[in-house]
Amino acid sequence: MPTPTPLAFTPAVGDHAFTPAQASLLTTAHRLGEEKFAARAAQWDEEASFPFANYEDLRAAGFLGLCVPASHGGLGADYATYMMVAAEIGRFCGATALTYNMHICSTMWTGMLADGIAMTDAQRAEHARRRELHFARVVKDGAIYAQPFSEGSAAAAGRAPFGTTARKVEGGWRVNGRKIFASLSGAADYYGILCTEDKGDEHPDARDTLYLAVPAKSEGFAISGDWNPLGMRGTVSRNLTFKDVFVSDNEQLMPRGVYFKGAQTWPAMFFTLAPTYLGIANAAYDFTVRYLRGEVPGEPPVKRRMYPTKQIAVAQMRMQLEQLRSIFLRAILEARPNPSKDEKMRLYAAHYTVMEGANDIARLAIRTCGGQSMMKHLPLERLYRDSRCGSLMLPWTAELVLDRMGRETLYEAGEKDE
Ligand SMILES: Cc1cc2nc3c(=O)[nH]c(=O)nc-3n(C[C@H](O)[C@H](O)[C@H](O)COP(=O)(O)OP(=O)(O)OC[C@H]3O[C@@H](n4cnc5c(N)ncnc54)[C@H](O)[C@@H]3O)c2cc1C
Repeated sequence: MPTPTPLAFTPAVGDHAFTPAQASLLTTAHRLGEEKFAARAAQWDEEASFPFANYEDLRAAGFLGLCVPASHGGLGADYATYMMVAAEIGRFCGATALTYNMHICSTMWTGMLADGIAMTDAQRAEHARRRELHFARVVKDGAIYAQPFSEGSAAAAGRAPFGTTARKVEGGWRVNGRKIFASLSGAADYYGILCTEDKGDEHPDARDTLYLAVPAKSEGFAISGDWNPLGMRGTVSRNLTFKDVFVSDNEQLMPRGVYFKGAQTWPAMFFTLAPTYLGIANAAYDFTVRYLRGEVPGEPPVKRRMYPTKQIAVAQMRMQLEQLRSIFLRAILEARPNPSKDEKMRLYAAHYTVMEGANDIARLAIRTCGGQSMMKHLPLERLYRDSRCGSLMLPWTAELVLDRMGRETLYEAGEKDE
């Protein structure tokens, strides 16, 4: 076991015996965030524009290939390391962290997650060939991938087949349909969509879900709709339409039928939306401490820390933050294919705790710092708005996590009432 490497700062995930690789990646993420992303965050939020400049920095640091295996030229970060790094980025710019998650998942799902999913030898060989192409695009060309699954139906919640379809044709697939909330729309080079294989019958089946990369330049592909939301404005999550779009066989990000198995095998794949919000919780806490100490750059050096009510509020925020960090850290360290029931329950609990907790910490931060702290030139009101978006995201919205936990606690697999 390598000697743990201490850091010069406490990362968003909290202190831990980091490996040298984790420490180095966290240090880079922290430096990028502090020196570059933090100052730009207000601009993306105000304009509802994509953080292109941050992606230039991520690209230059090799971070687009964070989860591409080292054997394919990437940085070879594992699941837990990615989750730690993503939280650190989220601490400085939520929209960058959330969109970065969509990109990274396209490499992580095809990389280490796919390695943990059962496949036939033929599927494994096909996947190895195709993912090589995708990894090369990211590592050599600096390509960006989006991950638009949502359609405004029950599909993204995992309760129905996707309405977007792909019909097999010579050399590839013909794609038709529509996606909503496509983060990175207009910024991505490839859109990794989930769609249902159209087998010509009337009974679409979620087991026939395909995971395809649609090149942004494809004929028949279009982006539409306004984007003027409450928070996470820099994600630029507009609508996509696919009208008879031809996608070559090589754009299959997973062999036929494998995504469906993957979603069942690797529930932790849906937890990757959470680190962004752990980062935001840290940012709200960090700001509150600085504000009460009178240390926010550009603000009058007024101290408010001597009031017992402020001290109590900061203690409450720290307690909540420690709870978020603890359950998050445990969940990422134990994430694996086919988790035990306890591990899965903890994963749900971690997701819910982080998504709802981040918003609660941001709420407390504004209440504690007071009226002057919610002005637009300070980050707190943006953190408050951004933090509200986490528990709206499918498939694990706050409501659906409660739904799943309750049901899976009271019913064992296959159990039904008479
Ligand atoms: C900032 C932001 C960025 C996003 N980026 C992406 C992206 O890049 N890719 C992507 O695919 N999606 C993305 N999404 C979409 C997100 O994952 C959800 O699909 C979306 O927020 C759902 O909104 P809706 O109004 O369609 O929800 P609905 O499906 O109408 O659901 C409304 C609420 O009802 C509950 N609900 C839904 N289905 C059920 C059910 N079967 N049983 C019980 N309760 C249910 C849920 O709690 C849900 O919050 C993004 C969302 C946001 C806010």
